[in-house]
Amino acid sequence: MKIAMLARNPNLYSHKRLKEAAQQRGHELEIINTTRCYMNIASRRPEIYYNGQKLSWYDAVIPRIGASVTFYGTAVLRQFEMQGIYPLNESVAIGRSRDKLRSMQLLARDGIGLPVTTFAHDPKQTAEVMEVAGGAPVVVKLLEGTQGIGVVLADTERSAISVIEAFRGANINILVQEFIKEAGGTDIRAFVIGGKVIAAMQRTGAEGDFRSNLHRGGSAQVVKLSPEERATAIRSAKSLGLNVCGVDMLRSNHGPVVMEVNSSPGLEGIEMATGIDVAGRIIDFMEKHAQPGKTQTKGKG
Ligand code: ADP
Ligand code: MG
Repeated sequence: MKIAMLARNPNLYSHKRLKEAAQQRGHELEIINTTRCYMNIASRRPEIYYNGQKLSWYDAVIPRIGASVTFYGTAVLRQFEMQGIYPLNESVAIGRSRDKLRSMQLLARDGIGLPVTTFAHDPKQTAEVMEVAGGAPVVVKLLEGTQGIGVVLADTERSAISVIEAFRGANINILVQEFIKEAGGTDIRAFVIGGKVIAAMQRTGAEGDFRSNLHRGGSAQVVKLSPEERATAIRSAKSLGLNVCGVDMLRSNHGPVVMEVNSSPGLEGIEMATGIDVAGRIIDFMEKHAQPGKTQTKGKG
């Protein structure tokens, strides 16, 4: 196969591993800097240009679109999809996963366990929002935050109200969520490929931090999932329409609750913790599924 990988930094562990895994299997993988692509939105003739050349003849595309370039990155990916090039994850599904409100709504529709989550536009409703979330402590999150930045634990009613009012006053959209205390600063990441959990790890936050993100100094170790956790991860991937994703869950005292689904999950933490060749499994999946025109949406929606 000739694979295009939309990514910005070729030296990231995940990107190097995917390239290596593709080459080991006899494929060609070219890293394309997403933000340097430009497009011609021509009638029935979608084109993408890069470094002065028209991009064509790829069999498949691996989107590794950073959270800061979701808008432009999904537009470039859509252009590939419209040419019938098989995407590892589709642009529409990536868009769903990047917005925490949208993804929570979709997961809730499909009956997947979630922390009690509330959302409101008007800061005048803060007291009511707090009540629905079950009162302090609550977690306040930016809708498009990532790597633990923009996730705040408000211990008391008073601090919660001031945090919510500060964000809303600055016109920043937030979710207010029940704090799952019993998770004890630990969460679970299930790595799903093609409707199967192929690896899972448990992440524990740095001393004194309730956030378990590895980017915030958390540490990872291999974990065995319960059948319910496994099923929750698989259903979440399906609900958002992602072939490859990292499903982040908390172990609450009413079963697994999903916090977010990551459509460009990092490979370093999971490969180190589990010893599983996750990059290889991703390329294996593409070998089986990458057919021209085999996209669910062909860039629609
Ligand atoms: P990000 O996209 O920034 O990673 P998350 O929603 O995944 O945001 O939250 C970051 C971390 O904060 C999680 O990995 C988890 O450890 C902790 N956390 C998030 N929401 C809750 C919650 N409702 N209860 C307890 N801990 C939470
Ligand atoms: Mg997270």
